[in-house]
Amino acid sequence: MTIGWTAPPPCVLSSDRFIFSSIMKFASSHLLGIAALAAVSPALASPQSPLKPASSSPSSGGSLDDVINDSPFLSFHRDLVQIESLSGNESYVGEFVAEFLEAHNFTVVKQPVPGGDGPARFNVFAHRASGSPRVLLTSHIDTVPPFIPYSLERVASNSSASSIRISGRGSVDAKASVAAQVFAALEVLDEDPDAPLGFLFVVDEEVGGKGMSVFSESSLNPDPSPFNAVIFGEPTDLALVAGHKGMLVFDVVATGRAAHSGYPWLGSSAISAILPALSRVDQLGDIPAEEGGLPSSPKFGRTTVNIGRVDAGVAINVVPAAARAGVAVRLAAGTPDEGREIVRRAVHNATNGNEAVYADFSSHPEGYPPPDLDTDVDGFEVTTVNYGTDVPNLQLHDREDGGSVRRYLYGPGSIHVAHSDDEALTVADLQEAVRGYRKLIEAALDQDE
Ligand SMILES: [Zn+2]
Repeated sequence: MTIGWTAPPPCVLSSDRFIFSSIMKFASSHLLGIAALAAVSPALASPQSPLKPASSSPSSGGSLDDVINDSPFLSFHRDLVQIESLSGNESYVGEFVAEFLEAHNFTVVKQPVPGGDGPARFNVFAHRASGSPRVLLTSHIDTVPPFIPYSLERVASNSSASSIRISGRGSVDAKASVAAQVFAALEVLDEDPDAPLGFLFVVDEEVGGKGMSVFSESSLNPDPSPFNAVIFGEPTDLALVAGHKGMLVFDVVATGRAAHSGYPWLGSSAISAILPALSRVDQLGDIPAEEGGLPSSPKFGRTTVNIGRVDAGVAINVVPAAARAGVAVRLAAGTPDEGREIVRRAVHNATNGNEAVYADFSSHPEGYPPPDLDTDVDGFEVTTVNYGTDVPNLQLHDREDGGSVRRYLYGPGSIHVAHSDDEALTVADLQEAVRGYRKLIEAALDQDE
């Protein structure tokens, strides 16, 4: 575990006393935690660096910093990004978000989520005392590795504040969504303090969705559903997403018998056996469904297949006794069960029924069909995306009146930079996202009336 977090310089803090106090509380409690960890396990604590003033980190230029410092919204986003929260190590950022929401009169429930490699991690569920939220804003607080520090950059030949580029791990995916959702809701609550809004910020989205699954199965997601709408935050380039592809994951496995490579007839090559199966599986997205391929749809286009990993053999002079390939399928149509049947048949046919080669679904039971999302709010570009989200991990019950809970997916920043070394977005993207979330919140509240 690592804690790549540095406190902002003192000049940052003077402009926002709340953030100052919460960061200092955060820093002092976690310094204690770090000290305790170091005492217990030097091996665990060694990659950690103590929290230190950021004056020792390279400055991105006074005037750029001032733009961020002057805005509670941009400062909140910065603080989120500065707290490292790789999947499994989300408790520090969770504490920070929880304290921030408590300071803004939210009742916060820290919902424990098993797993992780740092201090006990939890989802942050928050609502106003007035009762259960009817519009739920949700995103995730974990990020993919590696941690990349927060930095600011002025885009050449443009001196406007809105063109400032903000980089760092999670700056887009999904801390931009988290920050914009919080500030959009605070704006709405400013005008209508009784607006039934709530937040759910989950852990583990990038690795398995355990955070959302835990929430989904908990009493915080009751039947019938108290929610009218759930607004999911992920990088969508500020477009409203009508749906995303489904997912199916499996291994193709082949077994053989080892022998000296000079006498291959004494053994049986697992690699030779797996090749025709993989070659067929690789093309399943391009083969028409009526010829045994995976289905396409007008909405999502073709199903795509990625053989992302192959493990086989032990040495070039040994006939390989085992081979295994990991495959991820992005389903454009159909259910995972239908997809499994198509894969099973394809492997069988490609290998002439060789029983030493088979598709193994047991180690990847997860999978979901393409979810359809709502787009009935005017003023947005509408699109579809090819990446997975936590949407399928939240099983929403019908409402008391029998209606289903609306689901929206929207957020700032591009998926094309998320997870990359260039993860970044502009101040304008962030500001526009606050307006977008406001629009969605207000539409969802109106639908409720
Ligand atoms: Zn994400």
